[in-house]
Amino acid sequence: MRALIVGGGVIGTSVAYHLAARGADVIVIERSAIACAASGKSGGFLAMDWCDGTPLMHLSRRSFELHAELAEGHAGEWGYRRMTTYGGILGRPSAPASHGAGPGWLSPNVSIHGQIGSMVTTAQVQPAAFTIGMMRAAEVRGAELRLGNVTGLLRRGEKVVGVDLEGEALKGDVVVIAMGPWSVLAARWLPLPPVFGLKGHSLVFNTGPAIPPEALFLEYQEATGTILSPEIFPRADGTTYVCAISSDSPLPTDPEFVVPDDGAIDRLQVLCARISPILASSRVRSGQACFRPVTQDGLPLIGAIPDAPGAYVATGHGVWGILNAPATGEAVAELILDGATRAVDLSSFDPARLEAVNPGRVTVARRPLG
Ligand SMILES: Cc1cc2nc3c(=O)[nH]c(=O)nc-3n(C[C@H](O)[C@H](O)[C@H](O)COP(=O)(O)OP(=O)(O)OC[C@H]3O[C@@H](n4cnc5c(N)ncnc54)[C@H](O)[C@@H]3O)c2cc1C
Repeated sequence: MRALIVGGGVIGTSVAYHLAARGADVIVIERSAIACAASGKSGGFLAMDWCDGTPLMHLSRRSFELHAELAEGHAGEWGYRRMTTYGGILGRPSAPASHGAGPGWLSPNVSIHGQIGSMVTTAQVQPAAFTIGMMRAAEVRGAELRLGNVTGLLRRGEKVVGVDLEGEALKGDVVVIAMGPWSVLAARWLPLPPVFGLKGHSLVFNTGPAIPPEALFLEYQEATGTILSPEIFPRADGTTYVCAISSDSPLPTDPEFVVPDDGAIDRLQVLCARISPILASSRVRSGQACFRPVTQDGLPLIGAIPDAPGAYVATGHGVWGILNAPATGEAVAELILDGATRAVDLSSFDPARLEAVNPGRVTVARRPLG
């Protein structure tokens, strides 16, 4: 069984790891570099029970469990650790908030409302290192990485029997589309529902050991009235990640061309300086942007693609792609190798639940239409 996985983000590499661990012959095809897109630029925050009561509950709980298992013996490689998590409000400059109980590294502008996650229920990984770690772990089990742009599929009748890799016919028994927001382009080749890219900006600071493992989710109203929801994640490697500021900017067709919107990084830096004096005085290691893949109903597309035997999809994980990658990889491997899943029921994520895009009208749209 040879599986071709298109996309070397956290989803593609997690599928590769689980397939290779079960003895499949695996090739990951990545257009740019492993973790070059959202999987390398996201927060890497993990929550055990924040998706409870939604169709994501079992996928998230199983993933949280698998993250802990995967980190055994590898924790230092991708910075897995448990965190305490707080929620609060960042006051406007004219109305500093009063300080509630919570982290002591914050400025008096921040009011903490309460603890929203504990060392039992919340954790983190360094997402680029985790994604690269999954690829390496797959390679140790025999998987191969090919750099190149997949531009089409090989078919024998209805059956998908490989990919067109920049003119090279690469054959495989199954093909898994894990192209993140660029999965929309695969709707030219396969009956796939739309996938959209929602842009987010982030900063990574060199903060050293000054900030303890405490994650923070804040609300802030800018002078213009815009509501921002900054998320702050100090990491085990002595950096601190902060994201906020989503935008409607269109997805470039080449992942290499993703850049921050004009002014967004400066705006984010001003915001960070108000959150903590440590962020105000720390050197910025990177200011970046990326697109999370989202679907029309907010749930991922995971499963066999209708009317295209041999083709599978795993994308649209939205804000929880790093969390939900391990159980997605496990489930896709079970589906391909056993014909059914055991650990997690994928029926809520069946790509057949949504109408496929007309292949002649594929565009990289800005946001879900519904
Ligand atoms: C600002 C921000 C913060 C986030 N924070 C968190 C968080 O704290 N926790 C969490 O769980 N999730 C978080 N997420 C969500 C998470 O990052 C994404 O859901 C996840 O990274 C998506 O992974 P992916 O593998 O589907 O896509 P991607 O990471 O986009 O990977 C897709 C890959 O496919 C490749 N590709 C595309 N087209 C082709 C082609 N034709 N041929 C070959 N390769 C191709 C691309 O180059 C890319 O490497 C965050 C997202 C954002 C934007």
